[in-house]
Amino acid sequence: MNYKISVVIPAFNEEENILPITEMIVAVFEKLPGCDYEIIFVDDGSIDSTSDILKNLSAENPNIFYINFSTNFGKDNALIAGLHYVTGDAAITIDADMQHPPSLIPEFIEWWQKGYEVVYAYRNEKNKHAGFTSRITSRLFYNTINNFSEVQMENGISDFKLIDRKVVNVINNLPEDRPFLRGLIKWVGFRQKAIGYEANERYAGTTKY
Ligand code: UDP
Ligand code: MG
Repeated sequence: MNYKISVVIPAFNEEENILPITEMIVAVFEKLPGCDYEIIFVDDGSIDSTSDILKNLSAENPNIFYINFSTNFGKDNALIAGLHYVTGDAAITIDADMQHPPSLIPEFIEWWQKGYEVVYAYRNEKNKHAGFTSRITSRLFYNTINNFSEVQMENGISDFKLIDRKVVNVINNLPEDRPFLRGLIKWVGFRQKAIGYEANERYAGTTKY
């Protein structure tokens, strides 16, 4: 049976990464028979040539769309905006810098087809491409959240996820005005599957935080 996957990619000054990540994702979908796809970029107020590149790319490829923010509203707002426009049976959120390996997408889809409504990736603890400081601050962050919240989150949990249409609709109808998407998706329930991954090095540019 044919199905459609929507990929949402937040991008803040990612001019060197847009074409490589698109190429990798398109290559993944070309090997998945019966799978239609769309890629929705959300340009989070970039001041480099990200939006020009997206304009050209979307003119060339009918599966590619983009949203332009008027200023930098942050990654979570970008992801949430993208989710409002997805038309697929499931959505995949992924970073623009290739730290989230697109090669995991077929595995996400397999778990979804087995009935999981959320498939999310968490970075393996001993990750060589997350620096020492970044690993420590990440651990501190999640330990703190887990102490105060009924929602427990794995250390290294990322925004690299597949979420079923049902979950997209729930997220889109929540009244949050300062969304923390990772927390919300854990909180809404549904059948969730976690998979560990090795983060890649950022392909080009530096961290946007
Ligand atoms: N990003 C965004 N808005 C921001 C900061 C980041 O849309 O204000 C995007 C960025 O372009 C990338 C993703 O969010 O696609 C993750 O950002 P980054 O790689 O800088 O974070 P890190 O991997 O260093 O935690
Ligand atoms: Mg990154």
